[in-house]
Amino acid sequence: MHQKPDGDAMGSTLGLYHFLKQLGHTVTVISPTNWPSFLNWMPDSKLVIDYEAYTQKADAIIDEAEWIFCLDFNTLSRTKKMEPKLDSSTAVRILIDHHQEPQVDKFAYGVSDTGKSSTCEMVYDFIVNSGNTDKINIEIAECLYAGVMTDTGSFRFPSTSASVHRMVAALKDKGLEHSDVHEAIFDNNTENRYRFLGNILSNRMELFYEYNTALIVIPQSDLIKYNAKTGDTEGLVNYPLGIQGIKFAAIIIDRGEERKSSFRSKGDFDVNTFARKYFNGGGHYNAAGGNSKEPLEEVAAKFITAMKENKDQLSTYKF
Ligand code: 5GP
Ligand code: MN
Repeated sequence: MHQKPDGDAMGSTLGLYHFLKQLGHTVTVISPTNWPSFLNWMPDSKLVIDYEAYTQKADAIIDEAEWIFCLDFNTLSRTKKMEPKLDSSTAVRILIDHHQEPQVDKFAYGVSDTGKSSTCEMVYDFIVNSGNTDKINIEIAECLYAGVMTDTGSFRFPSTSASVHRMVAALKDKGLEHSDVHEAIFDNNTENRYRFLGNILSNRMELFYEYNTALIVIPQSDLIKYNAKTGDTEGLVNYPLGIQGIKFAAIIIDRGEERKSSFRSKGDFDVNTFARKYFNGGGHYNAAGGNSKEPLEEVAAKFITAMKENKDQLSTYKF
């Protein structure tokens, strides 16, 4: 999975793990970094190895591996410190992913489909299309549901196809308690996170109504003051999109070693192209991200310049 995994990255890898295990394989799930605590309820998440924390152990497993499934990312750089190890491994690398522009020469086999809602949906298709629907147990159902639910913004994004709903119906038939998964993911916040959110929305959000755009800039001092953990900034970028008139939202976070940006849009503004062009990043049409090495103020200034350059596309608003 990619670094700082989200629900889809963790759900797809653990879902695949619970499937492959039943076929008699020895399977290990490795995350390049730590992950948000709201994913710890996932069945067997305790067995996932954090590459940064247990590099030697993970390297030994990669050395032994015959097959490496790469899920929810398509360029090896998305695995950060794990990249050189993955790149030099002699194992057969298989890609299952829904992002644009895969690094095709790095994978022996794979499915890459930007039309898919989530990697979890693709793992579901993989299990079903290989004739193994009967192997879908409650563990797999919970993992895959979590990823498809989070990657579709709780079934609201345009990527939520009829087949997504059919998949969910099939998982329900397997006994999935979907309310429990929603609770485990969304009603699992610390008080600190809500105080942090209050501060961000009051003090760090700027609106540019002329451009239907909102920008949130978070200095490192806020992360320290509110003791923000991995995952506490997840989803913050979506809040401004709920404001009347806003169709493009950006967040820039000073993570110390780099400035991390996230971009979200509603409707016809392509944030994937925007992220690639200005912020060394990428993603999907309505959700993308990037990173920069420059100081926070410079990155924020660069954003405002880029926003102004895109005035023609930004100034139209649907509702
Ligand atoms: P997020 O904003 O949640 O970090 O990421 C949104 C989407 O953009 C994800 O699908 C993710 O894969 C992609 N993305 C985020 N950051 C980067 C980046 O630095 N480079 C690339 N290529 N994609 C990114
Ligand atoms: Mn995904």
